[in-house]
Amino acid sequence: MMTPQRLLMGPGPSNVSEKVLLATAQPTIGHLDPVFQTMMEEVKALLRFAFQTKNAMTFPISAPASLAMEAALVNLLEPGDTAIIAQKGVFGGRMADIAARAGANVVLLTFDWGTPIIPDVVAGAIKANPDAKLLGFVHAETSTGVCSNAQTLCALASGGGLLSVVDTVTGLGGIPVNVDAWGADVVYSGTQKCLSVPPGLAPITFSDRAIEVIKNRETKVQSWFCDLNLVLGYWSGEGGGRSYHHTAPVNAIYGLLEGLRDLKSEGLEARWARHQQMHQRLSDGLGALGLEFLVEEGARLPQLNTVLIPEGIADAPVRSLLLQKHDIEIGAGLGTLAGKVWRIGLMGETAREENVDRLLYALGEVLQDQRQPAVA
Ligand SMILES: *Cc1c(COP(=O)(O)O)cnc(C)c1O
Repeated sequence: MMTPQRLLMGPGPSNVSEKVLLATAQPTIGHLDPVFQTMMEEVKALLRFAFQTKNAMTFPISAPASLAMEAALVNLLEPGDTAIIAQKGVFGGRMADIAARAGANVVLLTFDWGTPIIPDVVAGAIKANPDAKLLGFVHAETSTGVCSNAQTLCALASGGGLLSVVDTVTGLGGIPVNVDAWGADVVYSGTQKCLSVPPGLAPITFSDRAIEVIKNRETKVQSWFCDLNLVLGYWSGEGGGRSYHHTAPVNAIYGLLEGLRDLKSEGLEARWARHQQMHQRLSDGLGALGLEFLVEEGARLPQLNTVLIPEGIADAPVRSLLLQKHDIEIGAGLGTLAGKVWRIGLMGETAREENVDRLLYALGEVLQDQRQPAVA
């Protein structure tokens, strides 16, 4: 089997190092093998480090990140509960959809795409809905490239007696994520963005307060697979009390373990700084090409750059030439931003000088190509 060697500069997956790929190719062992259980414990400890939390219930869900979103919401919400969802892009909308399907009354707060969530608006909604149970929002909105202030939003939630659910799928390993300092209740991520591990696993962490709420539910969680009460026995049970729930994706966990060890040895601050530096390098280069950002400087995610497509340039041919001629993938705009922006990811392994320079060179060439008047 031959897959092409792409430089992945879209909204995920990001490039995976040779080391992580080799780890996933190690012999498969049983998911209840003591050696594998030791690996699981190391993965959990390293995820606590990545999330900056002491939460015991911190583990990777065996699924893409959307299932972590679903697990967070269906475990906390019971029919008739009120959920405030602050939306500033595609993924906040997905949260609202899941909450509504779980039977919650959704109070949807929408913000312009390309701008952050405004805390005062959230504070007003919390005041106007004193019975609301949770606040859900996306920290790093991958559809727009906007960062919202998770610390402030989580503080508003806990101040009003609400649980907070934070989507940091694109944040973890790229920008500061401090679950305990935020006082967040359920925070989840994915492997294929700034952790640079193949897609298919979803790190998640639950505060003790969230676990209490889940244990004291009046109704059963309607999803068997997502029911944390059942998953708990599989992922917890330190000292060998583990019981079968589903078969963990053993080789995928090898890859996650290797990727998290790399994160630990690089260090969180160094990793965040590298993303910021590569963003600056990209931003300088794009400026030189005459390209502009959708998002205001202070709210930009370094790892997801939304660039306005210049007047007179067609979206699809540029992306297609980058892929076919230069083996570089960048992302298209989503939803209302389709055809208006490109999304350039600098996530994890992708966030390296040589990659930024390679893209800038290729994009310069492709744009020049597209601007040339057709010769008759
Ligand atoms: C990518 C992403 C998801 C969904 O992740 P999948 O692994 O594709 O299910 C959810 N939220 C945000 C903010 C994302 O960027």
